[in-house]
Amino acid sequence: MIPNDDIRARLGLRPAINVSGTMTSLGASIVVPQAIETVAAVLSQWTEMSDLQRTASRTIARLTGAEAGCITASCSAGITLAVAAAMTGADLAAIERLPDATGLKDEVVIQAGHMVSYGAPVEQAIRLAGAKVVPVGQATSAHAYQLDGAITEKTAAAVYVVSHHVVEYGQIPLANFIATAHAKGVPVIVDAASEYDLRMFIAAGADIVLYSGHKFLGGPTTGIIAGSKALVRASYLQNRGIGRGMKVGKEGIAGVIAALEAWENRDHAGIRARERKALDLWVKALAGRPGVTARITPDPTNNPLDRLRIDIDPEAARITAWDLADAMASGDRPVIVRDHEAEHGYFFLDPCNLHPDEEAIVAERIAGELDKAADAPRPIVTSFAERAMRLEAGLLNWPD
Ligand SMILES: *Cc1c(COP(=O)(O)O)cnc(C)c1O
Repeated sequence: MIPNDDIRARLGLRPAINVSGTMTSLGASIVVPQAIETVAAVLSQWTEMSDLQRTASRTIARLTGAEAGCITASCSAGITLAVAAAMTGADLAAIERLPDATGLKDEVVIQAGHMVSYGAPVEQAIRLAGAKVVPVGQATSAHAYQLDGAITEKTAAAVYVVSHHVVEYGQIPLANFIATAHAKGVPVIVDAASEYDLRMFIAAGADIVLYSGHKFLGGPTTGIIAGSKALVRASYLQNRGIGRGMKVGKEGIAGVIAALEAWENRDHAGIRARERKALDLWVKALAGRPGVTARITPDPTNNPLDRLRIDIDPEAARITAWDLADAMASGDRPVIVRDHEAEHGYFFLDPCNLHPDEEAIVAERIAGELDKAADAPRPIVTSFAERAMRLEAGLLNWPD
């Protein structure tokens, strides 16, 4: 059974199965039932929004250990608002002047290896506040002395990104990053959009930590800002300025409060066991297939989550990793795999966004596509460069 499949058919959408992770491009996550009920209940009611945000602040404080918190449209919006907060403080006139930063501290330091894209550039989210980005170090090499040297009397904040997208070696350890920034009186903003641990970054001394409400938490599309009361207040006050275009509705705020409360009571062990069952099923389905190596791989940023990495040897499998990913994503029951490293000849299956029994469809589908490749008159081997061009061209074709 495909839950709510009727809505997708009604909207002319293919019933995709997501084994790629919490992807914005697929609707982020399966919203937890508690959040769905709360969203439905609040939509027809008047709510005093500043009180609703106060309730959110208390919930965020309880779960993160921070002094305060607020909700915005997305984690991306959170980056912009937290940077703006570090620039303006609670100065309402300055808040209305942004992105004109005349007279304000307007430099933001960030390691070059953290200047990644989560679908849009991190550094653009910083610049949206009117700030100038000051890269620290080189992509694969950054040191505390470089951070120290990049900080001036114009530095408003230091941004630290936690993600599988950032360069995974040669970066400044978080503790050293925070110590160096704090020694110069510069607040640290941590983008932890996809991290399960709600407490560690505040405990480590971050002044602001940002999470996506719609990723692992399974809330509606929102961003969570947690941190010191002064900076959270200044972030919230940006709603009278640049934050207005990043407005979050009552349904988002109430829904993510419910998702946070559900997170406190989530059966993490039970969910992991279910994910493990899917991984084991896929390992079994792929065992003994020529050119296919499957191994269970831990999450690169230490979230309590494993994925199946599938390496494809195109000679023996008669198909490349990216052609297999594309084949699975085609048809009227698309299976979307985690293929952002496909040029290296592998992709992942992520079990954390499956509806019950979908893991069996995934297993059938990958085995079926491998069988087709084995029986095809010629190997299915297309150029990765051409695929990249095709994907770009497709992007520019929307809405056609
Ligand atoms: C997903 C992500 C974002 C953006 O989060 P949204 O809530 O979708 O705006 C920002 N930073 C990182 C590291 C992310 O993974």
